[in-house]
Amino acid sequence: MTTTERDCRYDWQVAEVQAIYEQPLLELIVQAANVHRRYHPPRDVQVCKLVSVKTGGCPEDCAYCAQSAHYQTGITPQPLMDVEEVVAIAQRAKAQGVSRLCLGAAWREVRPGRQFDQVLEMIRRVTDLGLEVCCTLGMLTPEQAQRLSEAGLYAYNHNLDTSRRYYPQVITTRTYDDRLNTIAHIRQTPITVCCGGILGLGETHQDRIELLTTLACLQPHPESVPINILSRVPGTPMANQEPVPLWDVLRVLATARILMPKSDLRLAAGRAHLSPAEQALCFLAGVNSIFSSDDGQMLTRTTPCPSYQQDQALLAQLGLVARAPRVGNKTTC
Ligand code: SAM
Ligand code: SF4
Repeated sequence: MTTTERDCRYDWQVAEVQAIYEQPLLELIVQAANVHRRYHPPRDVQVCKLVSVKTGGCPEDCAYCAQSAHYQTGITPQPLMDVEEVVAIAQRAKAQGVSRLCLGAAWREVRPGRQFDQVLEMIRRVTDLGLEVCCTLGMLTPEQAQRLSEAGLYAYNHNLDTSRRYYPQVITTRTYDDRLNTIAHIRQTPITVCCGGILGLGETHQDRIELLTTLACLQPHPESVPINILSRVPGTPMANQEPVPLWDVLRVLATARILMPKSDLRLAAGRAHLSPAEQALCFLAGVNSIFSSDDGQMLTRTTPCPSYQQDQALLAQLGLVARAPRVGNKTTC
């Protein structure tokens, strides 16, 4: 039996995932570190930059989100950015070692028309710079997924966020199956899938185990799995949630690494609040992808993001290197 046959499975049962998740923490981390080393050059880290190309005023009611029009969060909505502005950000990012540019829009779904055409142009222009482009634009039809693919899109982000059973406590304006349907539409194209979740929404360990089981039963696995730690945004229903203990974050990351060995595992929102030593533990648990920034923020100023310089110093300190874009060289498990 090859390692791939042994490690890449899509028939995980919740009880099996629970047994992995509940192991003694350091055993779990060592196991994840070993899986990481079998499937990835262990020093490589993908550095990504997130650009909010259309900010705020979103009709969805995601209870964590600064951009939902349902909550008073103090965000000033911004219209769709100019293509040239996005290209300039991409050029600066590339010069700083970024290999993936993620374009996020606070939309419920993509609508055909001038704005979608403008996003397609952003994808073409940034792809021409040699960067992986990822978009997160809300729900998509199969036809829209096809148009994104024709523009050269490398990845599409669409997070499941939490377990199916906890989902209605977080979002009521769409269903879990809406999310899975959009992911299925992406899978009908060569675009890779970026899909993960958020910790700290008031979910139980069981919810985290169920989310990880759902992700690991997608076939193929998402090529990229972002794990966000809730940024508690004043004005949202999640503003007063308890902080997530580092130990829980490590448990989720290590379990994700074991279940989805070939996927890129990204520590996304919340990393700015972790010390360098805490982040080193996350890399050991299998993280091989991060967001970095030149403006100190992820999507909005409510979610801080470490700077390119801070991250370059961190990677150098830990002997890690920013990897090149994988455009034209896709991996799945
Ligand atoms: N509207 C698109 C969508 O929801 O798919 C894209 C933008 S949305 C901001 C992308 C992801 O960012 C969400 O799925 C969520 O996982 C994460 N996110 C948003 N607000 C967050 C917060 N306050 N803390 C942590 N993660 C957050
Ligand atoms: Fe809208 Fe996305 Fe925020 Fe939900 S997470 S409110 S869909 S921008």
